Amino acid sequence: MPTNNAWSLALGRVAGIQLEVHVTFAVLLGWVAIVTVREGGGWGAVLRALLLAVALFFTIFLHELAHALTARRLGIRTLDIQLTPMGGMSNLEKVPETPMHELYIALAGPATSLAIALVLYVFVSATGRPLDMDEGLFHPDTNPYTSLMWVNLVLGLYNLLPIFPMDGGRALRSVLARRRTFPEATRVATRVAQFGSVVLAIVPGKFNLVFVLTAVWIWMSARKELQDVRERHAVRPFSLRDVMVARPLTLKTDDTLEHAAEKFVSTFQSVFPVMQGDSIAGVLGFPELLEGLEKHGEQATVSEAMRRDPEAIEVDAKIEDALARLNEHDDEHDMVLMVLEKDRLVGVVPMSNLKELIKVEKALHRAA
Ligand SMILES: [Zn+2]
Repeated sequence: MPTNNAWSLALGRVAGIQLEVHVTFAVLLGWVAIVTVREGGGWGAVLRALLLAVALFFTIFLHELAHALTARRLGIRTLDIQLTPMGGMSNLEKVPETPMHELYIALAGPATSLAIALVLYVFVSATGRPLDMDEGLFHPDTNPYTSLMWVNLVLGLYNLLPIFPMDGGRALRSVLARRRTFPEATRVATRVAQFGSVVLAIVPGKFNLVFVLTAVWIWMSARKELQDVRERHAVRPFSLRDVMVARPLTLKTDDTLEHAAEKFVSTFQSVFPVMQGDSIAGVLGFPELLEGLEKHGEQATVSEAMRRDPEAIEVDAKIEDALARLNEHDDEHDMVLMVLEKDRLVGVVPMSNLKELIKVEKALHRAA
């Protein structure tokens, strides 16, 4: 099964949402097994610890599923849920910009974790098992239900910290957005998150690599989120028709690369849709042209050098959706979308055009 995230395995689909687990999860299971053996546990103890690890991740999955199902009720799809040793991540198709919607989606996860902790607390107390965990999470002497209870309690509370991109940070932004514009609310929430990440890094009192790395990750993620929101809002006043290269010149699959090179030189167009009859067979940008010339020579055909299956978008789609589609790719600078109107090619939108528009808009706002 193809995965949406690098270094991940797809476990299957739940409620239409792909569940993926990061390969380092196997490392975590290995570590749990080794620690158990070193503490003098036999095979039974190892098996028990591994089952507990899987149960822990199942409850983290339930936390993420709560976000995803709440989002779905509010009309937002979840592309996948990814589980990593650091926790879970729901990859929503877009950020909800209706403040109450973001609040519900953000709080659904911690509410689920706290509810699981409460149910386990009642169960553990009712059955007379110990509620403390002095020996450590995976220790054979610790009651596994108690371990599960504590992890879910900590997970629920930790995620409520008002620190982007954790759930509490999203909840904070949604509250701020009731009285501010969305980018402004994001800016304030980002500053709070960056301040919070510094506090988290110095909380242990002495240098702790995990805390420092977490702080760096929070700082970077918060900045990225602010940048994404600003870009989305910069392009929002425009339509795809405003930014696309309309009626683009095209190449044919059996044109030679020599012919293609002449077109690149003699026009201002930086990327060419490649047609086979009336349908789009691929796209040829400057990087593909250069690579094709080096590998196959100038008498090779365009079809040998072009990128196949280019992404397409309907001309009436929102420009933010185009930006999101282009942003999904790592090599975003070379990305280009074909713009269709009733299956007919009417334009192309290179990522570089959108990036320039965003820069111009930012400069205008600074000048104003
Ligand atoms: Zn969450």
